[in-house]
Amino acid sequence: MDKTQPPAVEATRRPNAAAPRAAGQPLCLPPGVSFDKFKDFIKRAGEICEDANVTVISKSEELSKEHYLDPAKEHDMYHIVGKEYFVSSAVIAPRDVPEVQAMVRLCNEFEIPMWPFSIGRNVGYGGAAPRVPGSIGLDLGRHLNKVLKVDVDGAYALVEPGVTYFDLHNYLVENNLHDKLWIDVPDLGGGSVLGNTTERGVGYTPYGDHFMMHCGMEVILPDGTLVRTGMGALPNPNADPSKPPHEQEPNESWQLFNYGFGPYNDGIFTQSSLGIVVKMGIWLMANPGGYQSYLVTFPRDEDLHQAVEIIRPLRLANILQNVPSVRHILMDAAVMGDRAKYTSKTGPLNDEELDAIAAKLNLGRWNFYGAIYGPEPVRAVLWEAVKQAFSAVPGAKFYKPEEMPDNLVLQTRHLTLQGVPTTTELAWVDWLPNGAHLFFSPIAKVTGDDAAAQYKLTRARCEEAGFDFIGTFVVGMREMHHIVCIVFDRKDADSCRRAHWVITTLIDDAAQRGWGEYRTHLALMDQIAQTYNFNDNAQMKLNVAIKNALDPKGILAPGKNGIWPQAYDAKSWAVPQSRLRP
Ligand code: ADP
Repeated sequence: MDKTQPPAVEATRRPNAAAPRAAGQPLCLPPGVSFDKFKDFIKRAGEICEDANVTVISKSEELSKEHYLDPAKEHDMYHIVGKEYFVSSAVIAPRDVPEVQAMVRLCNEFEIPMWPFSIGRNVGYGGAAPRVPGSIGLDLGRHLNKVLKVDVDGAYALVEPGVTYFDLHNYLVENNLHDKLWIDVPDLGGGSVLGNTTERGVGYTPYGDHFMMHCGMEVILPDGTLVRTGMGALPNPNADPSKPPHEQEPNESWQLFNYGFGPYNDGIFTQSSLGIVVKMGIWLMANPGGYQSYLVTFPRDEDLHQAVEIIRPLRLANILQNVPSVRHILMDAAVMGDRAKYTSKTGPLNDEELDAIAAKLNLGRWNFYGAIYGPEPVRAVLWEAVKQAFSAVPGAKFYKPEEMPDNLVLQTRHLTLQGVPTTTELAWVDWLPNGAHLFFSPIAKVTGDDAAAQYKLTRARCEEAGFDFIGTFVVGMREMHHIVCIVFDRKDADSCRRAHWVITTLIDDAAQRGWGEYRTHLALMDQIAQTYNFNDNAQMKLNVAIKNALDPKGILAPGKNGIWPQAYDAKSWAVPQSRLRP
């Protein structure tokens, strides 16, 4: 026998067969676990975390939360495959790091899968819900919610999972630090700084790539071991060795140098099922000493091509200093009103109707939101360069927020691009009644050809499915995150089916063109993972090998991002498909 190979594990974990439920039994038990065994587990979990922090999900009525401002912790609020499909058997909120470790060990003992989340506002990608129905939802945000440190000289913060963008911003304001340090925020400020970073989310200041700007993690591995990455692995000589590891004073460079020594580990803990991140460093931006946001409107649909060609060299040269975005007219229109405000027609809006909406709102068919950072003389030079470059687009118009006080989107972007959190952009989800959304998020080259081709394809497919195209191109250093917002009516089964159809179709369409998504909803993880299949799925084989080595029982987030542990029969976990053409 080859002793270097671990013993083969039989893939026995499959979805539970439908069976009548006993009183108090969760809506969905963990796979292969009897109700009696589950009750033992819950008793032990209560002994670790206290009963008040353990909630068994046994009634359909408990799946009632529907809003970002008060998000569900046990299921996907924006469900496309039924409200009760992606659902946890129980939600457990540990009170400190040792309790997280104890819960990981307990799940290993009972062979019960767990799905960690921070706040659960990952809406559009599945929220707090687990990939494997019946998993334990591990709610890290409820108690682990402290800003542990803000260091002004080093310009960084050390945070726990429950710290939201609002929390971190408020912390800086309340401690009179906001004149020195700014944060970077995504469109909505209610999510977790740590959760968003582990998912590789983005914001819009010069620090918009959150993973790039994180520095140092404390992670609980699937066997309960606590690891500090990067410089955190080097002990601080002044640390008190009598304290437990999670309380020991870290190395002073932990949040200053990302890589430490040896292989760089942090990447494997993003979009990952290899660890639970319980502390994370994030770099803060030094207040640049001046700021000016602006809007450039482009009148014609076809201007997208030229605008993107102008953006590329400006962004590469850092004349565009931040992560700007090029937004389709309906993205802005939807923030300012629901569909009924603009039209009574049921089918997708045509070009004339979109032109009319743009004219009514005094916007372009595409709208570019940027900002300039620095003292006045620096801003003056950069503004001239930006203005001159975009003036090449016939009919382009330039606005500063003070010139459009009633433009809600520009007023909001003015805040977002300086890292002030808001929730205003929630409004576009209400474009349709009972509005919910899914994000289709392919990466695009910063070229006019790529942008125009992705827009053409995604708009055509959205319209084929009966939806309006709503989308934005978010410009990174060398690529764009093209975010297509598929807004559907979550209480209309046909609308859910069409949303599911259009996203599965687009994933295949995109892969055929060499375009891949940067992040996705639970229901699409397998499909997208299978498109990243270069050289006979070599990368997936690597991911599975690491998964099985670190998590032999497959207890941590099985199926996340398409990675199935050896104990799981991956095919049997396929999400019910609704690929019928609309
Ligand atoms: P947010 O509320 O910040 O948008 P969530 O808390 O919903 O984000 O988390 C999104 C996803 O990120 C989760 O479903 C999980 O897969 C992953 N995640 C979040 N927090 C952690 C964490 N602390 N450790 C490991 N993975 C996490």
